[in-house]
Amino acid sequence: IISIRDLVVGFGDRNVIEGFSLDVRKGEVLGIIGPSGSGKSVTLRALIGLLPKRAGTIEVFGQDYAGMSVRDRVAVERRWGVLFQQGALFSSLTVLENVEFPMREHFDIPRKLRREIARFKIDLVGLSPESENLYPAELSGGMIKRAALARALALDPDIIFLDEPTAGLDPIGAARFDELVLSLKTALGLTVYMVTHDLDSLVTVCDRIAAIGQGKLLEVGTLAELQASDDPWLVDYFHGPRA
Ligand code: ATP
Ligand code: MG
Repeated sequence: IISIRDLVVGFGDRNVIEGFSLDVRKGEVLGIIGPSGSGKSVTLRALIGLLPKRAGTIEVFGQDYAGMSVRDRVAVERRWGVLFQQGALFSSLTVLENVEFPMREHFDIPRKLRREIARFKIDLVGLSPESENLYPAELSGGMIKRAALARALALDPDIIFLDEPTAGLDPIGAARFDELVLSLKTALGLTVYMVTHDLDSLVTVCDRIAAIGQGKLLEVGTLAELQASDDPWLVDYFHGPRA
């Protein structure tokens, strides 16, 4: 569903990602791991067109995103949802308004229907109906992640990109979030691209895992395959003192 070839992304005189190739398959949950600062968020931003690439190709739904007209791009953007590392909710909007926002941007849906869809998504991610009128500052960390997920799901996407969705959650909150992602995949057939540091998430929800390091793809495969890798960072990650 996404095909990345020889991707190069950089800032100033430095390339953060230098020659990265990876396929994301339809209907899978792909976990992305790698050291802090290795370029996981940068890659995600490049994939959704928020950062320019210096070289390489990215195909989404079988088409090169870069070569598309603005109109075609917007049509593609409607088919994915994004949960950024910090949640990135609009602080001046309530939960309900945040979830409605993508629908306002992309479609001319009557207000009443828009609200109904937004309430459905809010319920889907396990937020209570009362939380719809709260502002982001009034939410707990876990509620922010759920609200951001509800917003990412607003347009019924085919793919969702999640950047460390369980970071900062307590273990129970994180486990609930993982369950939610898993049920979305099973029930809706969503493709999920999930950057994470969370070993539990890898074990419970990811079909495959890709490891990024030094701007390259270190390994990609099942959990068992990555656990058997002799890459030093992966050995430490899976078998080091913390694991
Ligand atoms: P973490 O696990 O801490 O979230 P990450 O793998 O997501 O780390 P990135 O945010 O992708 O790391 O950053 C990769 C590198 O790119 C870092 O060295 C960072 O300093 C650099 N970088 C990211 N954004 C910018 C920017 N806008 N301008 C300059 N450098 C940047
Ligand atoms: Mg990051």
